[in-house]
Amino acid sequence: MALDSQNRGEIVLRGIAGSPGVAHGPAFVFLQSELDIPAYELKPEDSDGEIARLEEALLQTRQQISKIRHEIARKLGEAEAQIFDAHQLVLEDKALIDEVIHEQRTSHYNIEFCFHRVAQRYIDFFDTIDDEYLKERVADIRDVARRLLQNLMGQQEHGIQKLSEGRIVVSQDLTPSDTASMERDKLLGFITESGGTTSHSVIMARSLQIPAVVGAHGATDEISSNDDLLVDGYDGLVYINPSEQTLYRYGKIERHRRTLQERYNTSIGKRSITIDRQEITLRANIDNVADVDSVRTVQAAGVGLFRTEGIYLRENDFPDEDKQFELYREVVESLAPSPVVIRTLDLGGDKNLKGMFELDEGNPFMGFRAIRFCLQHPDIFKDQLRAILRASAYGKVKIMFPMISGAGEFLEAKRIYEEARDELNERDLPFDPDIEVGSMIEIPSAALVADILAEHCSFFSIGSNDLIQYMMAADRMNERVAHLFDASNPAVLRAIKRVIDAGVAKGIPVSVCGEMAGDPRYTALLLGMGAHELSVAAPTLPEINFLVRMIDGKAARMLADEALDMHDPLEITELISSFHNSLLADIG
Ligand code: PEP
Ligand code: MG
Repeated sequence: MALDSQNRGEIVLRGIAGSPGVAHGPAFVFLQSELDIPAYELKPEDSDGEIARLEEALLQTRQQISKIRHEIARKLGEAEAQIFDAHQLVLEDKALIDEVIHEQRTSHYNIEFCFHRVAQRYIDFFDTIDDEYLKERVADIRDVARRLLQNLMGQQEHGIQKLSEGRIVVSQDLTPSDTASMERDKLLGFITESGGTTSHSVIMARSLQIPAVVGAHGATDEISSNDDLLVDGYDGLVYINPSEQTLYRYGKIERHRRTLQERYNTSIGKRSITIDRQEITLRANIDNVADVDSVRTVQAAGVGLFRTEGIYLRENDFPDEDKQFELYREVVESLAPSPVVIRTLDLGGDKNLKGMFELDEGNPFMGFRAIRFCLQHPDIFKDQLRAILRASAYGKVKIMFPMISGAGEFLEAKRIYEEARDELNERDLPFDPDIEVGSMIEIPSAALVADILAEHCSFFSIGSNDLIQYMMAADRMNERVAHLFDASNPAVLRAIKRVIDAGVAKGIPVSVCGEMAGDPRYTALLLGMGAHELSVAAPTLPEINFLVRMIDGKAARMLADEALDMHDPLEITELISSFHNSLLADIG
């Protein structure tokens, strides 16, 4: 197939620019839904061996499922664990197993092929019946069949964690746990058919400096594994079999970008101060202990957003208090005395633990996510809070809660936090008694009652990614509504302004930590609206600092006033882009 593709000459696919940069290399097409099941005929005398393999895989799968069931019951409760009982029932279904054995003995095909064929017959049969209960059985059979086949074939969860060489991964979708589990040095870039610019996989790619294009419809059909690809993460283009001219052109683009970056890097270590000497605080967003190195490299004023769910996603588990404490301590200690703002667990939406905490929700971003999950699972929440508190004895920690919708929820989270403190006091463990506890503002209701919330919070951090998604009712993962997901929308700007004003009125700091804060076109606008703290992916920080040092506060305020008076998002984007371009006019 790759050969056919080579004969096609250069083909260009258009998507959405996800993570900047250019990558060139061979494709690896990753189809999550399909396993590559081998099919080969054996001799009749091999049947006993094949059936023994099946029995071994059944045993292994049962053990895996009961381990997961046990963990889920312990951590999430009995009700959530019961789904795995249904999985066990599939494995104990004598009729199904007998049919697989019969299939093998009569066809003499390898056992994985026979199992797949029989399971598929069941799935097809149940699928035709219009009954909710049977539909759920189909999902169970699919899940179990996949796990059993992987065991039969001696495979890991899926092949994406073990890329054989530097590859550009092409997929329908990549979950944050997929991205978190890939080896950075083998992943040259990625292309997905779905997703938006603030999908969590894209956010991770940006901080790892992996070029990415999302929303590239047809990519998995057009591209075959081993096709030669060029990914343009600046403009959202994918070239299949790039021509010599294309490669040459991109070589030049890369050289130009490198020169600019060198220029931005001259701001590393210089004060973040505007021309009129306003101090701005620039912090970094991280999701992993390993990110601390890049925070140091760019000399950020600490961490403004530690997305702790990254830890859970990498482990695909709920790590216990001690384990989390060690990780938080490492970050906090190595960045002290700079503060680390640790955000409590934000699972849900596009961030799920595979096979452990995967809720089948129709609207996952509006569902059981972040603080909603933590408030209903106080034990998991407190494990984390105690770990964070203990780490606070080693440097400067601030805590913030994600997805707060109003004061009631914040106070409830704070109450559980007080309990965690009491528990540590009982255990005589040290922590900072003056930790500041703040709230993310990322739900429109929270933005509207920011004045009320400000009475209770020590600080605000505006999560523009979710704030835009929820204000515009435009799923941040859905490329079809990506045009609505626009930070320049007047509604978004008014909400941000309102939150900043509420913070200023109450004298609490307001930071912006969504992707908008790291988009250089918005830097002057945000400063002009009164935001004095930005938290951005570490690789972007030098560019933002470079800009801050070129901005005059008065001009920024005028820019903000003008933008806030405008009605058309396109005009606002034009206005701020031309301001940004004029700042850069001198550096080429
Ligand atoms: C946000 O929503 O802007 C934010 C920073 O949180 P996350 O992207 O992790 O949802
Ligand atoms: Mg968010």
